Amino acid sequence: MSSVFYTAEEIKFKKEIHDWLQENIAPLVQPAIDGDYNAVKKAMILMGKKGLCGAIHDPKYGGTGKGMVWESILAEEVAGINGAIEMTRLVSASLFGMPLATSGTEEQKKKYLPKITSGEWIGAIAMTEDTAGSDLSMMQTQIVREGDEYIINGHKRFITNGGEANVVSLYGVLQNIEDPNPRKRITGVLVETTTKGFEITERYDLAGMEGASVARMEFKDMRVPVENLVGTEGQGFAILMSELNVERVGMAAACVGHAQAAFDIALKYSTERVQFKRPISSLEGVSFRLADAAIKLQAARLLTLEAAKMIDAHKEKEATIAASSAFAFGTEMELEVTNTCVMTLAGEAITKRTDVVPCAWRMAPVMWVVGGTTDIQKFIIQRELYGPFIKKKKKVAPKPKAG
Ligand SMILES: Cc1cc2nc3c(=O)[nH]c(=O)nc-3n(C[C@H](O)[C@H](O)[C@H](O)COP(=O)(O)OP(=O)(O)OC[C@H]3O[C@@H](n4cnc5c(N)ncnc54)[C@H](O)[C@@H]3O)c2cc1C
Repeated sequence: MSSVFYTAEEIKFKKEIHDWLQENIAPLVQPAIDGDYNAVKKAMILMGKKGLCGAIHDPKYGGTGKGMVWESILAEEVAGINGAIEMTRLVSASLFGMPLATSGTEEQKKKYLPKITSGEWIGAIAMTEDTAGSDLSMMQTQIVREGDEYIINGHKRFITNGGEANVVSLYGVLQNIEDPNPRKRITGVLVETTTKGFEITERYDLAGMEGASVARMEFKDMRVPVENLVGTEGQGFAILMSELNVERVGMAAACVGHAQAAFDIALKYSTERVQFKRPISSLEGVSFRLADAAIKLQAARLLTLEAAKMIDAHKEKEATIAASSAFAFGTEMELEVTNTCVMTLAGEAITKRTDVVPCAWRMAPVMWVVGGTTDIQKFIIQRELYGPFIKKKKKVAPKPKAG
């Protein structure tokens, strides 16, 4: 961590958190990977007590209000301990918590945010459906307003924390709005998972991020009070899009954390493993690969820091391209760096499925997919790059003649 880019206070915080996580959360990793979700819940409560679920939340609701740079330091450090535990924390505190913090009512914030920042409750966000992956405007879940209630029918799939969450921020299409643009009908509501009509219909057997709860859920005539509306009716899509920068920077930081943890092990291993009567670190085929990995890791960290600082400075427009750049670069860096680490450990990595290096390696494609695939991040980046040209073109277009 470079002292040129981080303040002394941030560096101190990172070191303290690193040591605290090693002592308190690392022992919970193996049980979590083995499928004991109580270990994940315990990690959430411990992190909540330590203030690690509230960096982006107001102290009024149990947060620390430290902001996005601190949140990115946290995401990196927790991800360095374990990807599943970090994703649980990130989804609950950020993906569930942020839309609520910015668009929720005072009552909603008072009711849910302290439970989220304390780690006592786990939140989830449910957008993806069978027909709506990268294109969320294709969601089919129906919300019908009837008096003081919303009646919800439909399903969501691939929902992180889904099988264990206490509360879900659910997005569907409000049938009472007549607008040909489906995005203008998407509406968000808060749903407690004990609500009648809410059912978990599948718990996915994950090929990475083992220990996390990712589930499919279905809603049959599920009724929630209108007080649970997030923002206004039809504002759901806009709310989702406006909060994505925070999510992307958190995800980018997590990519750095997974890759750094694997890299530290691979670097050390290369100095210890002797073949052909010398440590493999003396072979340029090995050490140059690790040098490349170190360059990419630091580049990813700095892109993440830049985007985090833009969010803290409320530079929303610049933050969009910066957050997608950090996330896209981070996912591709993680794929490459964790591959290098597996190559360095060779058989040692392939035969120890739950060790840090193979876990980070399997986490890499997960990061490429979640929170909008890396293709979608590049789509956003090019859209932002070409935006001014398209606007200019529109300006010079000849006006239609009257008559
Ligand atoms: C482990 C895990 C956890 C998840 N957690 C959540 C969650 O908590 N909440 C939630 O709502 N969702 C969640 N998701 C869903 C995730 O956000 C989607 O899987 C992701 O957005 C991609 O959707 P898809 O899988 O349907 O792929 P598709 O959208 O079908 O994409 C298939 C391929 O086409 C490419 N593609 C699609 N459109 C374009 C385009 N316009 N330009 C270029 N390429 C394109 C994609 O990049 C990809 O390579 C999770 C997914 C996983 C795997």
